[in-house]
Amino acid sequence: MKIVDSIESLRKWVAENKANHQTVGFVPTMGFLHEGHMSLVDAAKNRADVVVMSIFVNPLQFGPTEDLDRYPRNLERDQQMAEARGVDLLFVPTVEEMYPQAVKTVIHVSGVTERLCGASRPGHFDGVATVVCKLFNMVQPDFAFFGEKDAQQVAVIQQMVYDLNLPIEIVPCPIVREKDGLAMSSRNVYLNEEERKQALSLSQALREAEQAYLDGRTPQEVRQLMLEKIQAEPLAEIDYVELLSYPSLEPLESLESSSFICALAVRFGKTRLIDNLIILNKKGREKHVAYDDDRKNTPCYSN
Ligand code: AMP
Repeated sequence: MKIVDSIESLRKWVAENKANHQTVGFVPTMGFLHEGHMSLVDAAKNRADVVVMSIFVNPLQFGPTEDLDRYPRNLERDQQMAEARGVDLLFVPTVEEMYPQAVKTVIHVSGVTERLCGASRPGHFDGVATVVCKLFNMVQPDFAFFGEKDAQQVAVIQQMVYDLNLPIEIVPCPIVREKDGLAMSSRNVYLNEEERKQALSLSQALREAEQAYLDGRTPQEVRQLMLEKIQAEPLAEIDYVELLSYPSLEPLESLESSSFICALAVRFGKTRLIDNLIILNKKGREKHVAYDDDRKNTPCYSN
């Protein structure tokens, strides 16, 4: 595995590979890697000839009171994991390399950024869209792989790629969970033992939501069930629990007609966790597993 920290070396490596007719798969991350990230590498290796991973904790997407300074980092371990999983090029730029000056051009995706994390983290998705657009321009991948753990991020990136005609296929990948159901996240290391135990209520609430949906309950009833499950944990501070259409992320009258997402963000102490369940609806209650071929490059139209 080659490791580079300059945009110039990255571009050179990609150009050589493209000259050899290699397709390029790209996995952008903020590091402190876990199996969730590794599943994206596996998907990229299946789809593309060579795989580029970036590790960059992007200051632009953190709010002033958020965890930028204490975001977990372990580059040595990340390098070993990336290499063992078959990443071909690891791009680890510094903040100065990515932002030599304060940026004056920012990508703002409207609509899909209005609710959920877009509402509770102002400016977050501008930071995400801007850095992903910059990375796309540097790597020029054929495919880019994103986890549905950050389902709103997937919707934002798909909308950006669609609106700006970026010649990149966005491949959403399913959420990887710990054995007990907790969605894997670099931030899980912040949780103490009791918080970790109570955080299980998130995936449990989503499982109950799925059952309630299959039982024919309304969006309001499903949301109420989820709220009750999570509120039963004394350390849980709910940021949001929402059911919205997916990927357009608009309010829902019923769960019958469109694909939808149950999305939640909950704080345990200083740690904010997100999780979700996407239900792909074609006709009525015909349910599809959360990841299949008709997800690719879905433009985020409102239905
Ligand atoms: P991050 O390093 O948290 O910015 O995540 C980098 C990429 O890994 C994003 O596309 C995330 O959605 C994805 N990712 C993070 N956690 C998981 C997970 N548990 N399952 C699947 N993908 C994940």
